[in-house]
Amino acid sequence: MRFRSTRSENLAVDSPQALLAGLAPDGGLYVPEAVPRLDPELLSTPGLPYGDLAARVIGPWFDELPGARLGAAIEAALRRFDDPRVAPLVRAGELNILELFHGPTLAFKDLALTLFGALLTMAREAAGLADELLVVVATSGDTGSAALAGLEGVPGVRVVVLFPAEGISRVQRLQMTTCAAPNALVLGIDGNFDDAQRTAKALMTDPGLGLRLAARGLRTCSANSINVGRLVPQIAYYVHAYAGLVAKGLVGAGQDLDLAVPSGNFGNVLAARYAKAMGLPLGRFIVATNRNRVLADFLESGIYDRNRPFHVTSSPSMDILVSSNLERLLFEATGRDAARVAGLMGDLAERGHYELSPKEREAFGDFVGGSADETEAAATIKNVFEETGYLLDPHTATAVAVLAKLGRSGPSLVTATASPFKFAFTVAEAIGLRTDGGEGREDEFATLGRLAERANLPLPPQLEGLESRQVRHERVVAPRAVGAAIEAWVGGAR
Ligand SMILES: *Cc1c(COP(=O)(O)O)cnc(C)c1O
Repeated sequence: MRFRSTRSENLAVDSPQALLAGLAPDGGLYVPEAVPRLDPELLSTPGLPYGDLAARVIGPWFDELPGARLGAAIEAALRRFDDPRVAPLVRAGELNILELFHGPTLAFKDLALTLFGALLTMAREAAGLADELLVVVATSGDTGSAALAGLEGVPGVRVVVLFPAEGISRVQRLQMTTCAAPNALVLGIDGNFDDAQRTAKALMTDPGLGLRLAARGLRTCSANSINVGRLVPQIAYYVHAYAGLVAKGLVGAGQDLDLAVPSGNFGNVLAARYAKAMGLPLGRFIVATNRNRVLADFLESGIYDRNRPFHVTSSPSMDILVSSNLERLLFEATGRDAARVAGLMGDLAERGHYELSPKEREAFGDFVGGSADETEAAATIKNVFEETGYLLDPHTATAVAVLAKLGRSGPSLVTATASPFKFAFTVAEAIGLRTDGGEGREDEFATLGRLAERANLPLPPQLEGLESRQVRHERVVAPRAVGAAIEAWVGGAR
């Protein structure tokens, strides 16, 4: 399996190298030279357990890694989920919902990041890499904790998480700042997600820093969805969900299924697009955004323009203006023209916008964008709860609202990307539970308990004791000070 950069003609690597690098040295993203085909048996064998199916979807993408060990690593990752079905399909009224929040940190990132440590370990061995990895992660709220949960204690790996100091929920923050793993550093960034992501990418392509780290036996890597190790495991849940909907008679065998995906960095919906390229019968990809509607505007107009206000919203994991993974689709849209992609990305970096030609836009024909603001998301949480008893988180509610606005034309599936308990204030307020307690807001954890009671759901065990765990990472730094903070932290390595 070969992966090549989106920005240069002659930069191709095998899968261990793509996993270990994350970002290509020219700043581009690795894309498959050819997409593996889906084994049709996976769709016609009812009741295939998630782990078996996932191994057969993921394996061909990483064929340099030992298959038996990959299978065992997938099984080990799935044991960390609180539901034996891993990604249950539920029905709420007319909605088909794919719950992707049963992992250790209650968001869909766990589906890939619980496996990521093992992928890195196998890739290091396959590549004969003696150096340790310094994994730099930018997070808008959920990636950080999932990366910490996936990488804590992994030998040969250190992890640095950069999160925006403002905007994330208290649960999200504590899930990161209470991490006790000695191989982890968590830093708040004075800025938003885009600042964190830009800082992480700059660190990974800074030659001076690279040399100084190399002298200490370290090399940088990414756990963001710019790494193919994040995208590929996500393909599995789309295949599994499709097979499940067919088994339930909700989709005809071979019938196109529309997806509604709450989107930010475009990683989740891109995995769905790869599933379609592998041969999964998918129809439209509904890309749902919040008030930061840069993706929706792009899909409507062909113009990507990040020159606009950044809104901090009730769906923080979608508060993003520079959506990295779009670059992978641009590469296909330009007919795999690396020079053109490099030019567009240059325009984005320098002027903050770029525009596609009408021909290039055709490649996005099966993508539809839409957005829903906080009021609409809250109304959706309320309506769905009142009508069906099902509790949506604010990200998933955005997708449900957009799907309703666009109208359903055939069978459709909404990916539920986070547990409602991760965003207790927003969800409780939406369904009419008072959270102000007279003197400002009550404690988020008290709200959690009342929310669980009202929805008649057990509190997720993943959150037990979180409130009283010791905070170990309190530093907030300016983006330009991150490099120095990391160097000081790794000072003792080797
Ligand atoms: C990360 C995240 C998203 C956005 O996913 P992308 O792959 O970045 O598009 C949406 N919802 C939740 C809850 C998330 O954690």
